[in-house]
Amino acid sequence: MEDDEPGPMHIRVLRPALASEDDLLSFHDAELVERLLSGEESTEDDAGFGLEDDCAPFLGMQEYVLAVAGASLAAAREIVEDRADVSICWDGGRHHAHKSCVSGFCYVNDCVLAILALRRLRPPPPAPSPGSTTMRPKLERARVMYLDLDLHYGDGVAGAFCVPNRAKGSNVLTLSIHHAARGFFPLAPCTPEDLLASAPDGGDGLGPLATENDPYTLTLPLQASASARTYAAIWPGVEAVACAFAPHAVVLQCGVDGLAGDPCAVGNWNLGGEGGLGWCVQKVVEEWGCKVLLLGGGGYSSPNAARAWSYLTSIAKGEPLSLETHIPDHAAFPAYAPSFTLDVPAGNARDQNDEVYLRRLVDELGKVAGVLRARQG
Ligand SMILES: [Zn+2]
Repeated sequence: MEDDEPGPMHIRVLRPALASEDDLLSFHDAELVERLLSGEESTEDDAGFGLEDDCAPFLGMQEYVLAVAGASLAAAREIVEDRADVSICWDGGRHHAHKSCVSGFCYVNDCVLAILALRRLRPPPPAPSPGSTTMRPKLERARVMYLDLDLHYGDGVAGAFCVPNRAKGSNVLTLSIHHAARGFFPLAPCTPEDLLASAPDGGDGLGPLATENDPYTLTLPLQASASARTYAAIWPGVEAVACAFAPHAVVLQCGVDGLAGDPCAVGNWNLGGEGGLGWCVQKVVEEWGCKVLLLGGGGYSSPNAARAWSYLTSIAKGEPLSLETHIPDHAAFPAYAPSFTLDVPAGNARDQNDEVYLRRLVDELGKVAGVLRARQG
């Protein structure tokens, strides 16, 4: 989308090309890439690559992987080459794939590929300071923030950029807001129990949300039935981190499996109102002052995923649809019963994130923001 003319943003629809093998190799191991692109239906090494169960190999996997990666990379390039301020790829957001194995329905990690591509963005040079004798200001490297709103922990993306006990600054920061509980996929670095068991003012100042003591790899574990109230409560902490890092581009993974009505039946999030999914996305797109790449993610109620991503598209365009909008007649119309409207309202489940827990999360994020400010400076 581009906004070079006043008024609502203009939308362009692209037909992305397939990614290349080299694109995949910018993150994934050569052995995995070779297997994914081999065209073979199955091999005896497949289990080692994670190609089983929810990631079983299938005919056409080769084209599928290249198409998913190619679509997110095309969206990222529109931003890097300054043809768009907001770019969308709802078929992207495959955040569980690792460097050397696939996982959780994710055969390729297009989020990581897009972040790597966005690092090539040329940020505007900082204004020369008064009295400066430097003829040409030093070009900054672009800072890219990855914010993951999926119900599940974005383990593949976190693992791609995490540097244990990182001592210096970084130009990539990942923050995954997700449900966490013992036995819940995937293994998260910090569960609510871990957080509550840690000393509020203990440790070396980073706290348990910094994965492996890396303030640029952040996890925000939520308890069951997280609702808009919870997201509204933690948002000042999320913005404190974003403000300290000051990204030039944000990759926003908009998994919708935390919405009420999803078959995962864990979250109780909704689309509208303060703290709703639409509210969070609107904050990033309209208030953070940087380029935004919107990706999809999980979402196992097809009508609700279609509702959510349609609504988020209207927000990105700067013309939010009414949640009372009637679903137009089409082949899948009966799936939208009984409301036949755009809204995905919250259910009746009680949000398990109480005020004490939410305050603790915001305090921890504030602590990390302080460390980031010191590193970025
Ligand atoms: Zn998910």
